Amino acid sequence: MIQPEEAIRLILSGISSRPRLRLPLEACSGLFAATDIHAPYDHPFFRQSAMDGYAIRFEDLKEGKIFKQVGESSAGTVDLPEIKKGECLRIFTGAPLPDSADTVVMQEHVQKKGGEIELLQLPEKKGLHVRQQGEQIKKGALAFPQGKRLNPAAIGYLASIGVERIDVHAKPEVSIIATGSEFLEEGAPMQKGKIFESNTVMLRMALQREGINARAAKVRDDESLLSNRVKLEAASSELLLLSGGVSVGDYDFTPAALERAGFQIVFHKVRQKPGKPLLFALRDDCVAFGLPGNPRSVLNSFYLYVLPALQKMLGAAEPGLLHSVLPLAGKVKKRGDRTWYLSGKVKAGRAVPLEGQGSHMLQSFSEASIIIKIPHDKTEMQAGEEVEVYFIPQ
Ligand code: AMP
Ligand code: MG
Repeated sequence: MIQPEEAIRLILSGISSRPRLRLPLEACSGLFAATDIHAPYDHPFFRQSAMDGYAIRFEDLKEGKIFKQVGESSAGTVDLPEIKKGECLRIFTGAPLPDSADTVVMQEHVQKKGGEIELLQLPEKKGLHVRQQGEQIKKGALAFPQGKRLNPAAIGYLASIGVERIDVHAKPEVSIIATGSEFLEEGAPMQKGKIFESNTVMLRMALQREGINARAAKVRDDESLLSNRVKLEAASSELLLLSGGVSVGDYDFTPAALERAGFQIVFHKVRQKPGKPLLFALRDDCVAFGLPGNPRSVLNSFYLYVLPALQKMLGAAEPGLLHSVLPLAGKVKKRGDRTWYLSGKVKAGRAVPLEGQGSHMLQSFSEASIIIKIPHDKTEMQAGEEVEVYFIPQ
């Protein structure tokens, strides 16, 4: 049995990034830049006003506070009149400044008198309320680094500087197989002994947040049925997630099914709670996880192991959930020598473990914003002691 940190290391070192392809921006959400992206243009592309007001020459203020309005520049204007000494241009936010102007006076600081304006308040410096060309980024400069996630802000930013297509790594095909003979048939009346199958929909939703549409199948606990299904799904996917059947019971066929399908088991069992029986296996063309079937183990393992694997495939420089260190809100007692992962919340800057941490329980997870890591070698942690926390995508 290995430690969680070793499990992560084995996963990340066993996986390489998927082939590259170039996609339009709108297809890149949630993916990772496969190359450094350089700015194709200066941004802003031209000097522009940051306010509604009047464009002047700062040096003219030596001569007085009255300016003659000689024209206008609104957003989208291309042909601009120049201004001469003592003249100004009506200008609006985002509109270009003529070469001859260097400063914008807010319209609130101006009194209009016929074709002239009088400044009621003088700009304190040259260039005030002017967005300079290339102020955000200069043409050719590094706009976005390889391996970083293309979140909505990144996509918007890259669109704003004129990037139209991005090199990313192709999404893997992902298949989910839930194993179990206890699943209630869809639409059938509930009966003692059966359960509502919940892992497939949960995993599919978690993957959807990462931009992945996974397919899912349910297979009852039958060795040959499961082997055949694993072979079939592995043939057409790069990432295979099995739920259940991964421990040592008489009906746990996941390890054997993976081996029969040509997978090498890299590790089986991690010194953690929940999710001790976690399994990771590799084949040339496919990566497989055997997730312990308990719903909480499934989701915890998804966030801590599957997500980093998926993000590594997508070329992430730092795969995995965002994490940080927070002080514990109260005392935590731990039994045994495994690492514990507790669903929790952040309250007043402190990590608060929630009630109901059983492997079969999801309620606390559904309210949680963090996963709190209690290290394997601790038996008791005090309020105020620092713990590692992982932020759960909401
Ligand atoms: P297993 O890992 O197959 O031994 O299952 C462990 C526990 O998780 C058992 O209580 C199962 O009934 C439950 N379980 C397994 N698969 C699912 C599933 N797909 N949805 C909900 N519960 C499940
Ligand atoms: Mg089972």
